[in-house]
Amino acid sequence: PIFLHYLAYRRAAASAKATKGILLIGPSGAGKTAFLTTAERKSIAQTHTSTAPLTIRATLPSPHVPASAAFRAPGDPSFERARSFNLTDTPGHGKLRRFATSKLNDTLGLCGIIFVVDAAYISEDPGLVETSEYLHDTLLALQKRAASSSKSGREAKELPVLIAANKLDLFTALPPHLAKLQLEKAISRVRRSRAKGLKNSGATLSEGDDGGADEESEWLGEWGEGEFEFTQLEEVGVTVSVAGGNLVGGEKVDVDAWWEWVAERL
Ligand code: GDP
Repeated sequence: PIFLHYLAYRRAAASAKATKGILLIGPSGAGKTAFLTTAERKSIAQTHTSTAPLTIRATLPSPHVPASAAFRAPGDPSFERARSFNLTDTPGHGKLRRFATSKLNDTLGLCGIIFVVDAAYISEDPGLVETSEYLHDTLLALQKRAASSSKSGREAKELPVLIAANKLDLFTALPPHLAKLQLEKAISRVRRSRAKGLKNSGATLSEGDDGGADEESEWLGEWGEGEFEFTQLEEVGVTVSVAGGNLVGGEKVDVDAWWEWVAERL
């Protein structure tokens, strides 16, 4: 029986490896469900309120070409296999975020994370604070993941993150390059206030020598006085890109820049 268990385990591991996965994350209302719907049916339907993670089998739409099958033609079985991937939607509501966190830990097959942002909502507070706190926490989780693998002598698998600046059809939406700067500035504020919170709680003071290290491990990106920039995470294998799009509204759905990013990961 042990041998049979082993076979089942091997089979499960192999099939999990075969399918690449992309995780959708971000605050509620940003457009995750709308993207999932687009990916599944290639057209927008009514969005539903997500209360649990939902995984669908998605297909990279043409003319995008999966990087691992760049020299194959459409119709070739290995091309078709390469363009198929699992897309997992996570609920953005505060209390349900633990689902997203547990998905981050279970990184089998995960080859990228799309953090969906409402580019109009982040032009001011409260949308900016809410979004940047969630993004900060997501990136910190990835940084800790890399730190714990390097502690155990393993190299953490690289996990690229796409910040998908959605709703560009709205005239109040920030264009992607401004959305990026706005989020970097807001994350700088989040990490300063988190560090202050840690200090005030006295958590680091009572633990003696480990105190400093603890504070540093809770600090996102480069330690010091400077401002936060996404490039600071490249050191831990996290490359952050920003690309704009719109799913609903506007003259037509345009998320080609996101598909291009996905294509490079497949
Ligand atoms: P989720 O909570 O992240 O899953 O967000 P949803 O996909 O449910 O979208 C929230 C709301 O934003 C819905 O009413 C969508 O129709 C709307 N929405 C999504 N994408 C866009 C977009 O590109 N432009 C506009 N104007 N509205 C959008």
